[in-house]
Amino acid sequence: MTIFPPLVIPETLAAGPGPGNTDPRVLAAYANSGIADHMHVDVVRGMQEVKLMLRLLFGTKNVHTYAIAGTGFSGLDCMLSAIRPGDSVVAFTNGTFSGIDCQTIRMKAATPDDFAADPLHPNPENVHVIEVPHGTSVSGEMIDKALGEHKPKWAFMAHWETGSGRTNDIQGFNDACEKHGAMGLVDAVSSLGIDNFNIDDFPALVGWASCPQKGVLGLPLTYAPVSFTDAYIEKVAKSGCSTYVNHPILNARHWGVVDGKDVEAPGYHQTHSCYAIASFHEALRISLTHGRAEKAADYAFHESILREAVIAMGCKVTSNMTSLVVLNLPDALSGREKELVQGCREDGFAIWPTLSEPVQVRIGILNQLSEDSISEIVGRFADAMVKMGANDVDKGAILKQVKARFAAA
Ligand SMILES: *Cc1c(COP(=O)(O)O)cnc(C)c1O
Repeated sequence: MTIFPPLVIPETLAAGPGPGNTDPRVLAAYANSGIADHMHVDVVRGMQEVKLMLRLLFGTKNVHTYAIAGTGFSGLDCMLSAIRPGDSVVAFTNGTFSGIDCQTIRMKAATPDDFAADPLHPNPENVHVIEVPHGTSVSGEMIDKALGEHKPKWAFMAHWETGSGRTNDIQGFNDACEKHGAMGLVDAVSSLGIDNFNIDDFPALVGWASCPQKGVLGLPLTYAPVSFTDAYIEKVAKSGCSTYVNHPILNARHWGVVDGKDVEAPGYHQTHSCYAIASFHEALRISLTHGRAEKAADYAFHESILREAVIAMGCKVTSNMTSLVVLNLPDALSGREKELVQGCREDGFAIWPTLSEPVQVRIGILNQLSEDSISEIVGRFADAMVKMGANDVDKGAILKQVKARFAAA
């Protein structure tokens, strides 16, 4: 038997699409929590407060607003569990993550015959996946056309697709769902806690799922926020769904939502960790103290400075998210994206390539909303470009431009 030495994970500058840098306050809340069981009065109170803070963050009165233990895909699994075998679905994909969501949807909507034909990638004919090219946003027009043609029971879209860095038309999605009588489901993993929106402004979108490690910044991988309208919950109450742990109605009990109402005394669902609850609670306090509108404006401002700087280095930006810049390298370096990213990562500057074709570079600014952080990201990226032979990149001049933008704000 081998006993390994203690695991040491070095500090990196997390400048990718996620996970973002964890605030020291979140880590402190985690480490400072006493040992208490999942029915202890303060743990339960913490969960009730988290539930109320999540309603503020989502901008909703939905009673069924709480969080699923796990990562973004855990929350998405819960939301998509309402889709039953044989249900008709139209789902849009324009990148890696909505692509994986579409795989989940195919599994949820598959019949035993569909699984027999292809157990890992069932392809039920009742699911229509609309493939929108990488680098393109899903538009209201595309949605209206597809929903009009297929008239599905459910429709699905990612709000912000992190794989390609594109924002999709959420108003158009809502309007098309309303017009064609579909129940809309949204992957809000990358937008919640960054963009400023109220999900109650989109009444035809009945299910929303997000994640702990992007805009919410509660990285001790803890809770994936979800929110469901009464229409969604009624549907699940009628049709059932085949999961205990991620059941949209049963899971809510531990957060003090029973029979569609807030209750003082929650019911056991699973062993929630006191450490996780304490850290997630702190992450939400930080976000709400910053303020949703202020935070959204800060992301837009800092992203615009990073974007300008990489364009000044000759890169072509193809994204339109405010937490992430997705770019093509200048022609002279084209085809060497993975090499550049690998070099940066080895130096502790953790940027990312795209995870599906085409290969592009992704630089993110989660929890990096300061002049120092943006200057460091810009400076380190300029160094990496010069190291690859981009001799025309004038790091000094570009950093001067960054400084001037902050000074003018
Ligand atoms: C990151 C991401 C996911 C997956 O989240 P995990 O926390 O890795 O499970 C899903 N959808 C989108 C849009 C994402 O950006």
